[in-house]
Amino acid sequence: MPPVENTAVVEEPRKYDYDLIVVGGGSGGLAASKRAADLGAKVAVFDFVKPTPIGTTWGLGGTCVNVGCVPKKLMHHGALLKQHINDAKSYGWKVGEKETHVWGELVEKVQNHIGSQNFGFRVSLREKSVQYHNAYATFVDQHTVNAVDKRGREKTYTSENFIIAVGMRPNYPDIPGAKEYAITSDDIFSLGYAPGKTVVVGASYISLECGGFLKGLGFDVTIMVRSILLRGFDQECAERVGDYMKEEGIEFMRGFVPTKITQIEPGTPPKLKIEAKNTKTGEMVEIECNTVLFAIGRTACTESLNLEKIGVQVNPKTAKIVVSEAEQSSVENIYAIGDVIEGKLELTPVAIQAGQLLANRLFGNSATLMDYVNVPTTVFTPLEYGCCGYSEEEAREKFGKDNIDVFHNLFQPLEWVVSEKPGACYAKLVCKIDDNRIVGYHVVAPNAGEMTQGFALALRLGAKKEDFDALNGIHPTNAEVFTMLDITKSSGKELVASGCGGGA
Ligand code: FAD
Ligand code: NDP
Repeated sequence: MPPVENTAVVEEPRKYDYDLIVVGGGSGGLAASKRAADLGAKVAVFDFVKPTPIGTTWGLGGTCVNVGCVPKKLMHHGALLKQHINDAKSYGWKVGEKETHVWGELVEKVQNHIGSQNFGFRVSLREKSVQYHNAYATFVDQHTVNAVDKRGREKTYTSENFIIAVGMRPNYPDIPGAKEYAITSDDIFSLGYAPGKTVVVGASYISLECGGFLKGLGFDVTIMVRSILLRGFDQECAERVGDYMKEEGIEFMRGFVPTKITQIEPGTPPKLKIEAKNTKTGEMVEIECNTVLFAIGRTACTESLNLEKIGVQVNPKTAKIVVSEAEQSSVENIYAIGDVIEGKLELTPVAIQAGQLLANRLFGNSATLMDYVNVPTTVFTPLEYGCCGYSEEEAREKFGKDNIDVFHNLFQPLEWVVSEKPGACYAKLVCKIDDNRIVGYHVVAPNAGEMTQGFALALRLGAKKEDFDALNGIHPTNAEVFTMLDITKSSGKELVASGCGGGA
């Protein structure tokens, strides 16, 4: 971030308790509050976690650190280690014949890390003189919130400006047994017992990631898919991610939705029955399992904020706050950032950057807006999928189907050759024909997250196909495949996986 001049010095007596109140102490809220305090503003943060239906709750820091990115990535890594143990045997390591995994030990380590993060956030707020209130805030008027703590004590606070950064919480379907017997991503990372045979409902990021690491950790996993995998993503890549997961032994039930969950036997884990219906044929099926995990989307936490009363516009369909390009709501002193805003990406780095830039504009001498275009992301499935820019489908729709060509190839990581791992990775550049600009980058490969981060810079800088071709590869890596993609989709040429990043 560029240095920003402090213009928040207040000389007259304050009209309000604070210059800024931030509602929600997650990725966006913490970033905004700390930056505002750095710029001299008097700031308070309100953060409160309502327990899940089975009583799970957590500390300061929001979704990412407690029940999102952080525990998910650690469990993903834990699951990948099983593959590495298998691969090690091919590399001459003598390891035990039957490895076992102890769920409780992983949960403990993950939760210890989260606990230290929660503590670190509190310390950093204190160091920056941001006042933290562990209380649930609701608007009274456009300058006042009412806050209720866990003991039910209420107090009102006033502020010149507000940032709403309350994030989202998982949905439950309206079917018998859903809230009584099923869990969501809010529960899985601290589950006090091994989940056992698990049915994951949903087919987006969270579902595929959770299903992926649970299988890797040794559990029997079925993923119930209503329609397509990874809606909104490049569908060719999404299917490749699914194919790899199938190879790993995950079962996909396509075209099914759950209709009822019942408990056959209590326990840790319990024995459950999930009933499901085929959306096309009406066929009914029953599956016995130990855990049902819903990952069927999330709803913005705006319902109890009293926004209607104070005139903040919310999209009634999504419950998300409608904001301007400067993240200003329909009420001039109330802003919103992160997952809670309409039509933007639900990602931690997006929430953080938007929060910092907003604080710079409110209390510093800055006019820089958040750029929501060309944001890279990665789905941390057993074979990761990283992307930046448009999917092939979106690019054809936006730029005209005849103005897009796709350069792509299959490749086999060198490391897979020795361990005789079947399957292939996939690289794709979506290219605009009129100016040769790359408008979509997609990779399905190990460590796709690490690969995608750097290439995203190229897309931000407007890289053309010839820039990728002129780039020297790092040999032998997977990433070098992007420096030698010469098969176009329009050529119809069959793809054959070659070794070592598609090169040698
Ligand atoms: P949050 O982090 O959700 O914070 C909102 C906070 O506000 C919460 O603590 C909430 O309890 C609190 N709150 C709500 N209402 C009130 C109120 N009225 N008063 C006081 N406090 C309130 N993103 C990535 O970039 N990479 C990933 O790998 C990734 N993995 C994910 C995995 C999972 C399982 C999930 C669920 C999400 C993942 N995300 C990932 C998304 C990421 O976690 C979110 O985009 C990010 O946390 C959004 O930040 P936020 O500040 O908008 O909201
Ligand atoms: P999404 O809203 O993206 O997906 C919901 C999924 O559930 C879809 O597959 C949908 O199917 C299905 N679904 C919805 N309702 C039902 C129902 N009643 N019965 C059966 N299936 C249903 O939600 P997610 O929770 O996966 O992700 C939320 C956001 O969190 C993402 O957009 C992402 O930005 C962020 N995130 C980021 C991650 C990362 O960066 N790695 C990881 C995880 C989350 P259909 O397609 O048919 O509608």
